[in-house]
Amino acid sequence: MTDFPFNLPPFDPGTVWLAGAGPGDPGLISVLAWHAICQADTIVYDALVTKVILKGAPNNAELIYAGKRGGKPSHNQEDISNRLVKLADEGKRVLRLKGGDPFVFGRGGEEAQALVRAKVPFRIVPGISSGIGGLAYAGIPLTHRATSRVVTFLTGHNANSISSTSVDWQAVAKGSQILVFYMTLRNIAEISKLLMDAGRSQKEPVAFVSRATLPDQQVVVTTLQDAARASKKIPTPALVVVGETVNFCNELDWLRI
Ligand code: SAH
Repeated sequence: MTDFPFNLPPFDPGTVWLAGAGPGDPGLISVLAWHAICQADTIVYDALVTKVILKGAPNNAELIYAGKRGGKPSHNQEDISNRLVKLADEGKRVLRLKGGDPFVFGRGGEEAQALVRAKVPFRIVPGISSGIGGLAYAGIPLTHRATSRVVTFLTGHNANSISSTSVDWQAVAKGSQILVFYMTLRNIAEISKLLMDAGRSQKEPVAFVSRATLPDQQVVVTTLQDAARASKKIPTPALVVVGETVNFCNELDWLRI
């Protein structure tokens, strides 16, 4: 393990660290998450975790894939939580590794609740969420005094579901200059219509930020009215960003400058 000129908390046997691995570029992992990878007995990781960072695990570490990807068979959330509890009860140092940040559209809250219920000691290690770090790699400043002071992160998954957590599209469309959508590529036709119906301009810029921070990152800029058509060729995972701030992406395309 790398030596750092500061102290890091011990990763004790029988505990779970619920950590974010960042959006993709392995260099964006936090020191704490790397510290945990290097000592873990078991790593339970998701589909969006960059595989190369798992090479930092000890040779005898057990690597368990628990990926969930939209539309494909997924591991049951309850099974995953139960597995974390069981591994910790066996005295393992359990690292639960998720893409981005575990508490941003990552079900980290649900897994942490299961650990609380089972009285398993745990630690949360935040990661760089794709909706923040991914935009930085795309040259899109999340806030800019000229264009956006209010940011909203949301998911377009189940856009029209009626539930206590469903979205008030009028409020979102009126209240936030920049909208950063996770898990929305497949529902973009519906979402763009909802936004235009709620008053957003047809000409408003939309960026698809695909595979952000990875070597094959792509940024495709279109408009709200053309977004559904443009979405067809976008590789996943992708973010959808709506707002004038998107237009900075040519000037600030630092990856290619
Ligand atoms: N916890 C994660 C989000 C998981 S939800 C985070 O904080 O980033 C999965 C969604 O995240 C994907 O559908 C996509 O919208 C987004 N996403 C994750 N990694 C991405 C990447 N490298 N590039 C673009 N979008 C990404």
